[in-house]
Amino acid sequence: MKCKQVKEEFVLVYGEDQDGGQLRVAIQQHVTDCPDCAAQAEHTRRFVTLVREHCRREAPSGLRRRILTILSRRLGR
Ligand SMILES: [Zn+2]
Repeated sequence: MKCKQVKEEFVLVYGEDQDGGQLRVAIQQHVTDCPDCAAQAEHTRRFVTLVREHCRREAPSGLRRRILTILSRRLGR
């Protein structure tokens, strides 16, 4: 996997519980070898936790996903 792809995907992986599986494994493998993405992953995890706590059950999951995608694009820069 490439860094750009990893950065776009892992916010979704962390944001959506049901999206685990192979994608999560692939990302975790990349993150172990890539300090840059590892730092980004840490940021994202914190961010997702914050978004979750603020939007708990209030935002439909489609909206939450959109927010997370936008945030991940910003963080990826
Ligand atoms: Zn990377």
